[in-house]
Amino acid sequence: MKTRNSLISNSSSASFICTRSIKEIALDMWKVVMDESRDYDGKKTYSRGHNLILSKIKKALKKPEVLNGTIGICFPSCNEDTYIIVKDGACWIATCWNHDWNNIDGLCPQNEGIVENKIENDFFLMMEGNSVISYKTYTDNIEDFECKKCKHPEDLWAYHIDRDGNKYCSWKHHKLTKKK
Ligand SMILES: [Zn+2]
Repeated sequence: MKTRNSLISNSSSASFICTRSIKEIALDMWKVVMDESRDYDGKKTYSRGHNLILSKIKKALKKPEVLNGTIGICFPSCNEDTYIIVKDGACWIATCWNHDWNNIDGLCPQNEGIVENKIENDFFLMMEGNSVISYKTYTDNIEDFECKKCKHPEDLWAYHIDRDGNKYCSWKHHKLTKKK
């Protein structure tokens, strides 16, 4: 999660369920994110960063724990990150509304609350960073921690945790350190 909108309903997020395989849907969605980052004259401007994330997504989609839904995957998209996890034979997707998802087959829009409730206790493999961290973010005691990698300390307003309880910045998923 990147934006500070958890108190505002009807935020910049969008939610879907899809019965296609996570292998197909994750690659289709990442292609939309890549294709929408064109320069002003419409040329595709895939960066090294885009290609790096593409290769990480492909690698993640070979992991049994991703395919069987033990964990999900998360990649960056414009306001909100995109979270996809397999549950009950479908992909549950929390993402950002600010991309044109209309051309992807089989995405069924869902009430945001239903998807959030379904995935709120799940952990996701981050394509930015390599950690497996919570969907949920927390703010308690955040003033005691800092992200040494993010340039703007004011960006640190919430954190994710990994399965051992370590804290990660909500922006780029760097591990936080306790302030001295
Ligand atoms: Zn950070």
